[in-house]
This record gives sequence, structure tokens and C-alpha cells, in this order.
Amino acid sequence: MITLPKLPYAYTALVPFIDATTMEIHHTKHHQTYVDKLNEALSKHPSLGKQPVEELLSDLENVPADIRVAVRNHGGGHVNHSLFWEILSPKTQTIPHAFEKLLIEAFGSVEKFQEQFTVAALARFGSGWAWLVVEEGSLHVYSTANQDSPLMEGKIPILGLDVWEHAYYLTYQNKRADYVKLFWNHVNWDKVYGLYHATQ
Ligand code: MN
Repeated sequence: MITLPKLPYAYTALVPFIDATTMEIHHTKHHQTYVDKLNEALSKHPSLGKQPVEELLSDLENVPADIRVAVRNHGGGHVNHSLFWEILSPKTQTIPHAFEKLLIEAFGSVEKFQEQFTVAALARFGSGWAWLVVEEGSLHVYSTANQDSPLMEGKIPILGLDVWEHAYYLTYQNKRADYVKLFWNHVNWDKVYGLYHATQ
């Protein structure tokens, strides 16, 4: 059985970037529903439950056809949100020097990285995610639709921003750009760098 992970901070911890009601609904309703529906799907093929969800997403073709869409959507939703909670920080953090160097090497500057990420987040039509991923050892920015995980394409996500309206609508309404702008004040760079390190 997959269980809903606890948040590493209180629902109020990210105010004013994300209001407490949004955080609570997002965690206890949206994320919980992905967990429940993933468990429901996996219960049809109990042997799959022993495998990490990340592995199932990395090899969807080998997931039985009758639950493949459910694993893609709800497994993706579970894994994406589990990462999202971890890479947010109540306090503004500076980027570790070693990781800043990597961003500069990959994108030209930290600002250019943030611009590229922002473009990906704003250009994603409808619901989805903006990502910083590691692919064959190097850093890339892109976005996915719905709850598609970068793992499905062999990319390892180390930073993700949920751009579904449920993530920001109460505070920002249609102003996704304002939400993305404030995101930079709440990135847990130590965690992101740790995730990068784990891929090397
Ligand atoms: Mn979400």
C-alpha cells in the first residue's frame, strides 16, 4: 500500500506564496486521491505493489494494459507531488555554490535558467508541471502535461513546479506568472542539489 507522505512543514509555512487552504486541500484531497486511485489500480495486480512507483513509471510499457493509464496518471500524481513538497522551503535559501556553478554551465546564468523554467511553466497549456531534470548527466528544463512524470522519458526530476490551477488558483486566480515568480523565494536548493548529487 502506498501512503500519503507527511509534509515537512505546516500548511501555513509557505504563506503568502501559497495560502494554507490551498496547501491543505492540495495535500489531503488532491494528493490523497492520487494515492487512493493508485492503490486501487495496483490492487488488481498485487505483484506490482512491491516495485517502487518510480520504477513502474520508468517502464510503463511493462505495466499491464488495464492499469497503465491509472499508473501513469495517479502514480505520476503521487510521485510528482511527493517531490514537490520536498523541494519547497518555508525560508528563502541561497543556491549552494557548487550547484550554482552547474546552473551557470548549463544555462549561462542562474537568471537564464529561471527565465527558461518560467517560460516552460507559462507555456504549458492547461494543467501540468515545469521541471528541472537530469538527463544523461546534464541539466535540462522542460514541462509535462497532466501528471506525466519525467521518469516516463528517462529523465530524473530534481525540481518541479505544479502549474495545475488547483495549486495556485485561490491566491492568484488566472495569474500563473505571479505564482511562478514567487516560487523562487521558496525553493529548497539544498534538497534540489542533493537530488542532483544522487543522480551522479
Ligand atoms: Mn497538484
